[in-house]
Amino acid sequence: MAFCTGCSLLCDDIEVDFDGGEVKKTLNLCRKGRAHYDSLGVDRLSSAVDGTAAKIDDCISAAAEILAGAKAPLIFGWGNSTLEAQRVGVELAKKLGSAIDDPSSYSQGIITEKILKGEVPTCTFDDIRNFADVSIFWGDDPSSSHPRHLSRFSYFPRGEKRQRGYEEDREAIVVDVRKSPTAQIAADGFFKVPPGGDPGFAEALMAALGGKIPKVEDKKRVLNLATKLRKAKFGAIFTGMGLAHSTGGDLDWFLSLVGRLNEITRFSVVPSLGEYNTRGFNQTLFDETGHVNSVSFKDGVDHGPEFGIARLLDSCDAVMVMGSDPAAALPASLAKRLAQIPVVAVGAHRTVTSDLARVTIPMAMAGLEARGAALRTDGMKVEFDSLVDSELPADSEVGKRILEAV
Ligand code: SF4
Repeated sequence: MAFCTGCSLLCDDIEVDFDGGEVKKTLNLCRKGRAHYDSLGVDRLSSAVDGTAAKIDDCISAAAEILAGAKAPLIFGWGNSTLEAQRVGVELAKKLGSAIDDPSSYSQGIITEKILKGEVPTCTFDDIRNFADVSIFWGDDPSSSHPRHLSRFSYFPRGEKRQRGYEEDREAIVVDVRKSPTAQIAADGFFKVPPGGDPGFAEALMAALGGKIPKVEDKKRVLNLATKLRKAKFGAIFTGMGLAHSTGGDLDWFLSLVGRLNEITRFSVVPSLGEYNTRGFNQTLFDETGHVNSVSFKDGVDHGPEFGIARLLDSCDAVMVMGSDPAAALPASLAKRLAQIPVVAVGAHRTVTSDLARVTIPMAMAGLEARGAALRTDGMKVEFDSLVDSELPADSEVGKRILEAV
């Protein structure tokens, strides 16, 4: 069996036949996973300095020169990188005395950090498959972002205590600003909130949980929902980008709701993180510093939003990006600023970020061309082998060579 590194579910039941390095037949891949496998031969990143093709050795030297010569470099990305590369990344940031950050600083980092600190209850996907009777998808649309989430873990499968599956044993609730594909599956369990209206909905739900009449239009539905949640034996809340962005990063209202639910019964939180090893980076940096993102090693260990990419782009003078595409995800004004800074991009494929980089360094695709380890979005560690040969270096190899050269 092979793994898929197409998203943070890291499916481990993939069967694949190759013909001369080309994917021929696959089993168990979703459409996103199949596209990921097919990308082996599509839009691969080439090694270049200032837009001119160069040997990888020369690109490593150019990258080291940019990073070592910078006064305030930022090392960013790491979601599409192995645990081995992430550890090297932290070492590189320490050696440079630079800042290090990942996309969780503008998405779900707050929730992940609370989970790692033990302040928010969590569980594994295996627990969910075996025991969960209520799944809440809050600002989360895994049917689009993590296509096998519902079929493998959260809704459709039968489990130890959930032998009758979704027909009788599981309930899906979706809270979102639009009727997403996941909301369409949840049908009657869909609660539409206006953009930024999540705290208001949570407040109404808290009131209903406390036996009060909620101050919302559809009081009856919210009261029924509260009754359902009170009766849950093993509840799970899956969070997505919609929740992270709903209130500009202030998630106190959400944490209060989770706390209240756990006074009544058991509800665990599992964030649906985007890139395949976002959780791995958050854990790696947390183990080293006690923080999941936005850390500076300039004077010991400093942490705060001022060391996250969104604020730091104003003052940093070089950026190395590995396994991520911030220029595609950040607001246009920040992407524009990134284009004005010397960027070193390390990745398997061409991206918006690599197109504006001064130095580009290709790497092998983890799980297909290179072996390595990663943490699934629920924190479970997986180790994968390579499936096909590649002349490209693994991400950790590129990181080590830059680390030696700076
Ligand atoms: S759900 Fe994610 S890990 Fe699983 S096959 Fe699809 S893309 Fe790959």
